[in-house]
Amino acid sequence: MVTTELDRLREEVIATARLNNFSKGSLIPILRNIKERHRGISTEAVQVVSEVLGIPLVEVYAVSTFYAFIKPESQGRYAFRLCRTYSCELAGKEEVARRLERELGIRFGETSADGSFTLEWASCMGMCDQGPAMLVNDEIYTRLTPEKVEEIIARYRKRVEAEDVGLATAGSADDTDRGVATASVHSDVPEDLATAANELTFITIPENEGLGKALEMSRVDIIDMVRDSKLKGRGGAGFPTGMKWNFAAAERRMPKYIICNADEGEPGTFKDRLILSAHADLVMEGMTIGARAIGSPMGVIYLRAEYAYLRPRLDEVIQRRKEAGLLGGRIGGIEGFDFNIVVAMGAGAYICGEETALIESLEGARGEPRNRPPFPVVSGFMGRPSVVNNVETLAWVPCIFSRGVDWFRSLGTENSAGHKLFSVSGDCERPGVYEFPFGITVTELLRQVGGEEAKAVQIGGASGQCVPGKEFERRLAFEDIPTGGSIMVIGPDRDMLDLAHNVMDFFVDESCGNCAPCRLGNRKLLDAVELLRKGRFTTAHLKEMQSLSTTMKDAAKCGLGQTSSVAFMSILEHFGDEIGVRGD
Ligand code: SF4
Repeated sequence: MVTTELDRLREEVIATARLNNFSKGSLIPILRNIKERHRGISTEAVQVVSEVLGIPLVEVYAVSTFYAFIKPESQGRYAFRLCRTYSCELAGKEEVARRLERELGIRFGETSADGSFTLEWASCMGMCDQGPAMLVNDEIYTRLTPEKVEEIIARYRKRVEAEDVGLATAGSADDTDRGVATASVHSDVPEDLATAANELTFITIPENEGLGKALEMSRVDIIDMVRDSKLKGRGGAGFPTGMKWNFAAAERRMPKYIICNADEGEPGTFKDRLILSAHADLVMEGMTIGARAIGSPMGVIYLRAEYAYLRPRLDEVIQRRKEAGLLGGRIGGIEGFDFNIVVAMGAGAYICGEETALIESLEGARGEPRNRPPFPVVSGFMGRPSVVNNVETLAWVPCIFSRGVDWFRSLGTENSAGHKLFSVSGDCERPGVYEFPFGITVTELLRQVGGEEAKAVQIGGASGQCVPGKEFERRLAFEDIPTGGSIMVIGPDRDMLDLAHNVMDFFVDESCGNCAPCRLGNRKLLDAVELLRKGRFTTAHLKEMQSLSTTMKDAAKCGLGQTSSVAFMSILEHFGDEIGVRGD
């Protein structure tokens, strides 16, 4: 890099760092900017960042190499990232991949000689109902076919030519076929399944009614109401929301933070994308109610890098709410109740969906999970009490204040109150986002989505179990099959080994590598899938895998390693004969 370029880069870095008071928290935004503008992060750039932020070189490099979107390697002007999740595989991603390679003249992992295009595989981008899906820089393309790929590439070639003669700006989004922000929404809950209206609940809740009611209550009463509603976290773990808020409220240290976990990276899950696209106000209402309850002046929406196209929309909603006096100072006329929300971008790491890894990422570090305790409600973001809630959890909060605890508890089951949004993809007639009451059976859900022919359903994403046909009378609820909402329908002709391979490949890639049971265990499980492919997997191997799986559950540091064997083990259990487990 010549000196003038370096000077310019230094100015850019300083400008971004200044927005965050030169804190380490500005490291990821700075690296994102550099990668976007310079298509790579050079050694000189790492040096500049290190000097400006006062962070050791090795630390800057370690963060850069951890995240998919800020890796230091150079990439083309346009990076084509094709989703390799199983739902995109079912929708025909291999054909699309081959056409991409042919048309671009490069293989996956390569950049074209003229530096215009890079081709990469990507983890789930939350478009499972509209696969195969692909990101080109921040622009999303869905329902790809080989023919559509040709059109898209031709369009980018024209754009490159125009840029070269100064007629267009790199990354301009003037001619893309986006329009995918809202998913196909299915909310026609049949009468025998729900006491609620026949519309998606979020559509029928009057804006800010729940917030208005909450602001008339004391902090203690707000927490009691959330606790009485029995609302449990909708991200999958199901921790009681009221209890979490109560723990944070009891802490004395300030400031406290409300963090919305919008890092929806679980393969097969895309309901949060819909909520953020169409009901962001509800999420922010929920955050504001939470802030009032625990005494927080600051909320953060941690948005996954793959959803960058939602960022302008969220910023608009924040601005509108500020102008309406729903964010900012003296909210609701309450003296001392000041609360703001900012959006922080992820940089492409599945593990950042884990709450302590997310907090590490917010602080500008590698997204490696922390040891617990202390839990984030005691020591979270910047060592302060922090509540981390899923997007859907926060969106249900104002609904509960609007319609009441009795309404919410009348839906669902004893230990799984309320309705749930499900992301349905795979071999069914009507993929999309559905609202169903907790307790719905797999059979009934399949009937609703047109998936009656399924031989299995993977529930809960890559780390979820594969439920075989003989167990379709089981219920989706914390009492039976808990789930964050991903439902992948697997048709009768599918090879379960393909699914096992896809899932284990994913976990080998996404393990942060911090602890041995996960780092090595996932690799061994992937090796076992390869053995199955070669017809050399015996019952002795099966016993070994069962033991390994137990070790991973007991000894891995976080949920990723504790659950990454679940899908494969359930396939071995229910489809062992079909995939070729041999006797000794
Ligand atoms: Fe990292 Fe896996 Fe260990 Fe979690 S279990 S800390 S993802 S290596």
